[in-house]
Amino acid sequence: LKNSGAEATAAIVTVGNELLYGETVDTNAAWLARSLAALGAPVVKKLTVGDVASEIRGAVREALAAADLVVVSGGLGPTADDVTKQAVADLLDRPLALDEGLLARLEELFRARGFREMPPLNRTQAEVPEGATVLRNQHGTAPGLALEVQAKLVVLLPGVPRELRGIFDGELRVLLSERFASRLRPVHHHVMHTTGIAESKLAELVEPRLPSDRGPVTLAYLPDLRGVDLRLSARGLSAAEAAAWFARYEAEVGPVIAPWRFEAQHGDLAEALNAALAAAGKRVAVAESCTGGLVAKRITDVPGSSEVFVGGVIAYDNAVKTAELGVSEEDLRRQGAVSEVVAAQMARGVAERFGVDAGIGVTGIAGPAGGTPEKPVGAVWIATALDGAVEAKLLHLVGNREAIRERSAQEAIARLYRRVTTEAGRGA
Ligand code: AMP
Ligand code: MG
Repeated sequence: LKNSGAEATAAIVTVGNELLYGETVDTNAAWLARSLAALGAPVVKKLTVGDVASEIRGAVREALAAADLVVVSGGLGPTADDVTKQAVADLLDRPLALDEGLLARLEELFRARGFREMPPLNRTQAEVPEGATVLRNQHGTAPGLALEVQAKLVVLLPGVPRELRGIFDGELRVLLSERFASRLRPVHHHVMHTTGIAESKLAELVEPRLPSDRGPVTLAYLPDLRGVDLRLSARGLSAAEAAAWFARYEAEVGPVIAPWRFEAQHGDLAEALNAALAAAGKRVAVAESCTGGLVAKRITDVPGSSEVFVGGVIAYDNAVKTAELGVSEEDLRRQGAVSEVVAAQMARGVAERFGVDAGIGVTGIAGPAGGTPEKPVGAVWIATALDGAVEAKLLHLVGNREAIRERSAQEAIARLYRRVTTEAGRGA
């Protein structure tokens, strides 16, 4: 094989009219790209076409010119709109032939599902291009197919995400590992999660700390509404070598980002809060106005949250703030619902009434209406109560309603997380 030592690359072709209409989000392309990078054959090209034979042939031809491995998703079903297999068979000049073993397996599958016999349409699913390797599908009737094409490999997978993933993680991963062996260069990632600091600010802190020799490591800033992840990536190293590089970066960058950093396996700040509360043996309740339960949702999205979360009050109307949380009617009248005193009374009130150590209060103006010159859209008071002591902070958030609510919830979780971990750090 020529180029046998070169790094393997991959290209993805996703097939389906629904992808072009935007009716179905192309999650297969993203999932495959991640999996292939992790395996060591990073994706250099992605193409999407409709269920049209000539389009599929053109895309697979283009993908073959760009990469060593071409993974095609979709169009393997038994109906007339599924034309991928025939199109690829034509392109590669590998006529379809009935695979008796596969046919027997499919017939058995239908019997096991309670059919007396297999619908005739499904018979086409037992036809495979000449020379193809059949990849078992544990979740459906369309198997995966792998075809050697000169020094390259073309793989066809069904579009149903569960089936595609099952085949990839089953027989395909093994096949690719053996087929490309020493040409695979896995990508290792190391992610540092931050929240409460803007991307540009973070870069100002981080850039001067980066080693002058960056080695094989590349750095990415990945912002979203909740914060910024710093992702270090290294390709072509063993896991131990990558870990050693990441440790060098950690030693330099870690200390300067510490005030905004949090640790969470899935990158969710609520995970970090719940873990910190559990470690401190504390429980929390929430009182939410403009976030309408989003803080509670975030906390309870994390498995095991019942250990630290007791409940909450969605105190949208002032009458609820008064009756359920003990917020003073006079303060509401004089200061308004979006005010420091009200946020503080919400946090303290919910903690006291639910009999827990910690409370969160959120009250603000999420917009688009309801802003005034003194209290514009995006003005949000966040209060936290911890062991009877209340702290409050005014946020000035930008963005639409969704962004303001998302950021408010994140900041509320962050405030309590910082307080709980600081207190724990002091040995309180
Ligand atoms: P197919 O194998 O093309 O018949 O696809 C079956 C179903 O899988 C489609 O109706 C979609 O719901 C889903 N699907 C197909 N392609 C994709 C894709 N690229 N990403 C996510 N879902 C997909
Ligand atoms: Mg389809």
